[in-house]
Order: sequence, then structure tokens, then C-alpha cells
Amino acid sequence: MDFAIPDELKMFVATVGQFREKELMPLEHDFLRNGGFPAGVRTELEERARRQGFWALDVPTEHGGQGMGALATCLVAEELFKHPAMFEFGGSPEPVLYAGNEDQRTRFLHPIIKEGRHCCYAFTEPGGGSDFAAIRTTAVPDGESWVINGTKTFISYADRADFVILFATTDRARGAHGITCFLVEKGTPGFSLSRPIPTMGDDWEPHELLFADCVVPDANRLGEVGEGWQLAAGQLTHGRLKIAAFQLGIAQRCIDIAVDWAKQRVTWGKPIAARQGVQWMLADSVTELDAARLLVYRAAWLADEGRPHENEAFMAKLYATEMAQRVTDRCLQILGGLGYSRELPIQSFYRQVRVWRIGHGTAEIHRWMIARNLLGLSSRD
Ligand SMILES: Cc1cc2nc3c(=O)[nH]c(=O)nc-3n(C[C@H](O)[C@H](O)[C@H](O)COP(=O)(O)OP(=O)(O)OC[C@H]3O[C@@H](n4cnc5c(N)ncnc54)[C@H](O)[C@@H]3O)c2cc1C
Repeated sequence: MDFAIPDELKMFVATVGQFREKELMPLEHDFLRNGGFPAGVRTELEERARRQGFWALDVPTEHGGQGMGALATCLVAEELFKHPAMFEFGGSPEPVLYAGNEDQRTRFLHPIIKEGRHCCYAFTEPGGGSDFAAIRTTAVPDGESWVINGTKTFISYADRADFVILFATTDRARGAHGITCFLVEKGTPGFSLSRPIPTMGDDWEPHELLFADCVVPDANRLGEVGEGWQLAAGQLTHGRLKIAAFQLGIAQRCIDIAVDWAKQRVTWGKPIAARQGVQWMLADSVTELDAARLLVYRAAWLADEGRPHENEAFMAKLYATEMAQRVTDRCLQILGGLGYSRELPIQSFYRQVRVWRIGHGTAEIHRWMIARNLLGLSSRD
């Protein structure tokens, strides 16, 4: 397998690094002190990125994007996530929307790509997130419409979203195969954000959503009835790859800070970098980061080749998220008290990375899927 990164892609990623240095780094101190950006800053940053051409990078050209592919998307994510704001360039809708018909692409997909609108993605319910068959939000047909009732929880970016990509059951007896996807616009009667959910992550407050006799036209049903689970599976693979790439940037930044500090900090007459206890933490960290990088790039390369990569994405996300947890912890330890302080981003990364072992499939579910593929078991085993 050839992992060479084309020179033009390296040059592009270098310009993303310049954006991070120029636009994001000056905001880092206040971001860390305040545990987030003031309202409106993300939108302003997205606008600046857009003016510089950083927009809809991974969207296929037939949908009006730049069609840069999975490897480019991962490299860009890696570069941006060296900043703790976890900032992403805009204009990249959830790929599940590519499955829409022409009318849906005009009303939902294109406004994200062309006008900077936003959406959010709602699977998880108070009764569970891992098990699709546990979805209790119902969609019942009523003439040319559907009546939706239920609660979704932990929905990221719901406060910014112009519409929700909602998964509801249309046939409980069929479990995961009775799930259907709907696009529910903000302001639809019966749909509301009931409460924000504070989390241990900086600037990350998902919401609980309520649907009470919420009437959605059949024209807003995405895909076929009962096809929601299949639509979601492809979507989740795409998300897992990006999440795995985030960990690379986070770990690299923490290692860079720890290396600089280890060379400067002197105890008992020697820099701590000269102590084997510190060297081993750094050696393990950089080795694990490299291993994760190869897993991520391989999965992205397979995606760009149009080859199966679901299992590789499971492995990349599982390993990279656990790697990032270990690396942020070791680097924080090398910095001592300073690592724990809000003067530096390591503590922010240390808290943020915890979520990625939960969201988009927990580490346990990833292990289950990898083992199932290895053992040739069916989805019921
Ligand atoms: C900050 C944040 C943002 C989020 N954003 C979104 C979002 O935008 N949209 C969305 O839909 N959801 C979102 N989620 C929800 C997230 O996807 C779920 O938390 C996740 O899927 C796990 O579901 P759960 O929390 O219900 O845990 P559960 O599914 O109840 O699992 C609980 C524990 O049991 C383990 N477990 C469950 N089943 C098995 C099994 N068969 N074998 C072994 N172990 C098992 C799990 O690994 C986990 O450790 C977000 C969560 C957080 C914290």
C-alpha cells in the first residue's frame, strides 16, 4: 500500500497550518481561560476560512464542493485539531444528505454548501445510544405527512442547526430495520430544544430535543422507509475517520509542548528530558501516535480508492482515541502543575478526548464490530 502524500496536498495542509497560526492561535489564551469562545466567534472564523477558500473541502464536486477526498479531509482535521477549540471548516454537510432527492438537495444540502447553514444529527435517546433498535422516537404516517413523538439527547450543535437529521422508528417490530430518517426544520411546530447538557469538554454543550406531535411532510423523509440504519452506517464510517484524525493533531500538539518543556525544565541539575522516566513517556507517545497515523491514513486511502474501509475505520478510531487519552495524560504529567493549569491547552485536550471513546460508537462497540468481522459473525451475534 502506498501511503505517499502528494506534494500539492502537503502544500495545501501547510496553508491550513498558516490559518491555524494566524486566525486561531491568537484566540487560544482566552479560549482556555473562559472554557470556550464568545457567541458568534465560530461563525466569524468560518466566514474567514470561507474567504480563504477553506470551504466544502470534502464535498464531492457534483454537489458543489471541492472534492478533496478522505485523506485530505483527515490531514486538514489533523492540522486544525492542534488547537483546542476543535474548530472545523464549514460547508461540509453530513454525507447522508447526498442520498436526498433533487428537491431535498436543493432545500437542505445546497444551503449548507452555498450559504453556510448548519444541521445536526440525532440518533441518541435517553434510553440508549449504542443500540439502534432501542430508538423509541416514533414517526407515524398521517396522509402525506408523518407525526413524530419522542426525545433525543446529547445532540451536538443543535443550537446552531437550521434542521435536524432525525432517526425515528416507523416499525418497532423490525428493530434497526424499522428506522427511517427525516429532515426536521427549526421552527417546525412541536419541535423544540428542551435543555442544554453541560459537559466536561470546553465549548461543547449538546442539547436534548423534544418532538411532540411534530408534523413533518413526507417530502422531508430521507431515503426509503426502514432504510435509516443503512444510511447511518455509511455516515458513521465517514465520521469515525475524521474523529480518528482529530486525535493525531491533538497528540502531536501535546507531544510538541512536552518535548519543549522537558528540554527546559531543570531538576537536580539536569533537564528532565535527560531522565529515563520522562524519555519513556515521550518515546511511547510518539510511537503510538505514529501507529495511529498509519491506521488513519490507510483507512482514508482505502476510502479514496473506493475500497471497503469500514473495519479499518473502526480500528483507526478505536486505537487513535485510546492513544490520545494516554498521550494527553503523559504529556500533562511531564508538564507537572503547569500541565494541569488553564495556561496551556493540554488540560483542555485531556478532557476533550474523553468523549471520542464514547461518541460515534463506544470503544466497546468498536471492539465488538472488529471481533465480529474477524470471526465472521453475523449482526445478530
Ligand atoms: C459530548 C457528546 C456529544 C454527542 N453528540 C451526539 C450527536 O450529535 N448525535 C447523537 O445522536 N448522539 C450524540 N452523542 C451521544 C453518543 O453518541 C452516545 O453517548 C453513544 O453512542 C453511547 O450511547 P449511550 O451514552 O447511550 O451509552 P450506552 O449505549 O447506554 O452504553 C453504556 C455503556 O455500555 C457499553 N455497552 C453497550 N452495549 C454494549 C455491548 N453490546 N457490549 C459491550 N459493551 C456495551 C457501552 O460501550 C458503554 O460503555 C453525544 C454524546 C456526547 C457525550
